[in-house]
Amino acid sequence: MTTSEIPAITIAIDGYSSTGKSSFAKRIARELDFHYLDSGALYRAVTLYALEKGYISPEGNIDTASLERDLQSLDVHFDEQGRTCIAGRCVEQEIRTLRVSGKVSPISTIPQVRDYVNRLLRICGKDGRIVMDGRDIGTTVFPNAELKIFMTADPMVRASRRAAEMQAKGEKADIDEVLANLKERDYIDSHREVSPLTQAPDAVVLDNSSMTMDDQMEWVLDLIEKRFAKK
Ligand code: C5P
Repeated sequence: MTTSEIPAITIAIDGYSSTGKSSFAKRIARELDFHYLDSGALYRAVTLYALEKGYISPEGNIDTASLERDLQSLDVHFDEQGRTCIAGRCVEQEIRTLRVSGKVSPISTIPQVRDYVNRLLRICGKDGRIVMDGRDIGTTVFPNAELKIFMTADPMVRASRRAAEMQAKGEKADIDEVLANLKERDYIDSHREVSPLTQAPDAVVLDNSSMTMDDQMEWVLDLIEKRFAKK
């Protein structure tokens, strides 16, 4: 099956924190010549904005009224290289730090923040040929996505991968701190009232604890071939 034979489908990839959703989604997009959209990056950008504006107190209290007001004119977007920007400023590096990771899940529980991000995602994904990763893509953002994948992996494996990724970028990464952060995010993401992280009934589960990226690609290409090859 060649890339031109694959229909303009939407591929929704959801799952727990640090299961490698973004790397997997990016690789699928590259191989299938699809667009890639990282929904978490938008939640992270809103979080960075809130931190910079002082809307999150050191104790973690959020000034939701001010944030909700600012969302009406906040300009978060992806540039032509797919990097996340706030009002034209590239924030791709800053949004991946533990400072932002530590606050993004509480910010993502705010319904107005979810509406804001979902609106941007639906505009970007309206024409299909898209791979999008997040927590609620297959359940809320694109419930009609033709292919839904739910990713999971052993928490310790996830924390080690994430810490290695951060260290490779020259960031400080204590494995216990990373593990605690991802467990906390999993908990908040799965228990929030609006759009919690859950597996869509029609999603296919991928546990990649002991799979390489090539193994995962082989698995997904086989799945796509079986489901979408013209008979
Ligand atoms: O995917 P990533 O780990 O970068 O996402 C950061 C956070 O953004 C998640 O822990 C979650 O709280 C939130 N998120 C969400 N819904 C999405 C994507 C991300 O709530 N679709």
